Amino acid sequence: MNFEESIKKLRAEKNAVILAHYYQTGDIQDIADFVGDSLALSQQAASTNADIILFAGVKFMAETAKILSPEKKVLLPDLEAGCSLADSCKAEDFEKFLAENPGRTVVTYVNTTAEIKALSDIICTSSNAIQIIESLPADEKIIFAPDRNLGNYVLNKTGRDIVVWDGACHVHEEFSLEAILKLREENLGAKVIVHPECELPIRMIADFIGSTSALLQYSKTDSSNKYIVATEVGIIHQMQKANPAKVFIPVTPKDSTCGCSECNFMKLTTLEKIYNCLNTESPEITLDNDIIEKAQKPIIRMLEISKKYDF
Ligand code: SF4
Repeated sequence: MNFEESIKKLRAEKNAVILAHYYQTGDIQDIADFVGDSLALSQQAASTNADIILFAGVKFMAETAKILSPEKKVLLPDLEAGCSLADSCKAEDFEKFLAENPGRTVVTYVNTTAEIKALSDIICTSSNAIQIIESLPADEKIIFAPDRNLGNYVLNKTGRDIVVWDGACHVHEEFSLEAILKLREENLGAKVIVHPECELPIRMIADFIGSTSALLQYSKTDSSNKYIVATEVGIIHQMQKANPAKVFIPVTPKDSTCGCSECNFMKLTTLEKIYNCLNTESPEITLDNDIIEKAQKPIIRMLEISKKYDF
């Protein structure tokens, strides 16, 4: 079966929209209506008149799409597509943490379950985390969750009073400083571009630190012709498409079995699973109305702050 053609036919018949995160494989990115970071994708899907959203990504992303489009049917091709970062922050543990640190504004990265979003005051992304924190009064006490590396990056940049939850993404924590330094020696003049979910020693030697979208944008505007890319390897598909003459080198993590920096959860999605999911309209992501209402509020607050300060 030609899955690309069959998916396109089903998508039209069912008035569906297909979202692909930057960390999906190239073939999936190429059949998607929108390719991007998780929150931007959910916002784009919400602005369409599609009846169905199929999210080629991981579960928290499909939940975010459902929170922003409760009236639409949201599908995830493989329910096993979780996230080590979202899993590192369970609702019952987080509730205890909040009780132990009262009186703090809870700023939560979008890579969390719907339950954690429902416990938060403001959601942020890796693109706007610093601006969101800086938009708060200087003496405001803050909790940042769930990524300790992004949290410490934001803490160092803003100097604010922040208690950071101790979670991490297994992909971004697996990069070794030695491997990057070796790659830099072997590729003189290459720029090291790094996601803020990476550990401090990696961030310290970076030429540029930014969200996945920011790294892609940097690759388009920077004048170098070679980059060592310390984030999930899937983004290189868009970098290469946008810059055919440039060279992008993925960093191999310490314990890589695939020889590259793949997120095993992201790579559970295949064209065949997308076809089956669209055909049967399952698995579907469902959330309680109560959770949807509570989780919408901190996302709306983030959007209002972004609009007010124009970022
Ligand atoms: S790359 Fe990390 S944060 Fe992103 S989905 Fe995979 S485990 Fe989660």
